[in-house]
Amino acid sequence: MESVDLRTDLPHSARMYDFWLGGKTNFPPDRALGEAFEQAIPSIKVMARENRKFLGRAVRAMVVDGGIRQFLDIGTGIPTEGNTHEVAQAAAPDSRVVYVDNDPIVLAHARALMDATGSGRTAYIHADLLEPEKILTDPVLTGTLDLTRPVGLTLVAVLMLLADADDPWARARVLMDALPPGSQVAITHPGVDFDPVAMAAVVEAAGKGRMTLVPRTREEVARFFGDWELVEPGVVPVMAWRPDGPAPADPTAAYYWSGVARKR
Ligand code: SAH
Repeated sequence: MESVDLRTDLPHSARMYDFWLGGKTNFPPDRALGEAFEQAIPSIKVMARENRKFLGRAVRAMVVDGGIRQFLDIGTGIPTEGNTHEVAQAAAPDSRVVYVDNDPIVLAHARALMDATGSGRTAYIHADLLEPEKILTDPVLTGTLDLTRPVGLTLVAVLMLLADADDPWARARVLMDALPPGSQVAITHPGVDFDPVAMAAVVEAAGKGRMTLVPRTREEVARFFGDWELVEPGVVPVMAWRPDGPAPADPTAAYYWSGVARKR
């Protein structure tokens, strides 16, 4: 493998998220920025875990209720508990998953994602959400997914890493437009509306670490779904999206908007 510069001198979103989840793939700058976020939002680690749990619930719902057997997971993250292919293949062993991330450290760990079980398949593409056309035409994608059949697209905790100037709505739209009816998209996104003061502190800390981070309003997040039909319960705080156990006492305790929608 050609050597890559992991830039461990700078914080990276994938490694900071890994730090919050209690993983081992993170370095001092990732932990420093992760801790700065934690100062502003003391429950940030719980929030990261709640976001991760949503990914599992959404993927399972897409398999079980949506009949989906192929997934495109953009912004994969460092492999951890409940990776998309594990959840999907536990529910339907023939599920296929294409992972996409632009971080070289995720690429370096991608082998851990390639343990597809049974008749399922898993593949990885090192690519950027800023170039959705490139993702869609990548031979790894076209060789793994059948784009004439429904696809479950996950954009979970990734769109906030794109600035408004990079038009994340248009990037998501290119991917969604390429998928056939019956496809679904699952999105989570940090919400600015839960605690604007704490979010402003987090954005400032991110800026100092040279990381783009844009928490958005519920309305801005809802706009990602476009004309796709939101499945129940719509765009809600992540803890309120079909919780596994009893409904949480305060679902706004995790500052993420979430939702799943279906293409008609
Ligand atoms: N979706 C996972 C991981 C979220 S962490 C989860 O919710 O559990 C965000 C991930 O998005 C990181 O791995 C980061 O490297 C990736 N990412 C950030 N910007 C990206 C971009 N422009 N294109 C592709 N991946 C990106």
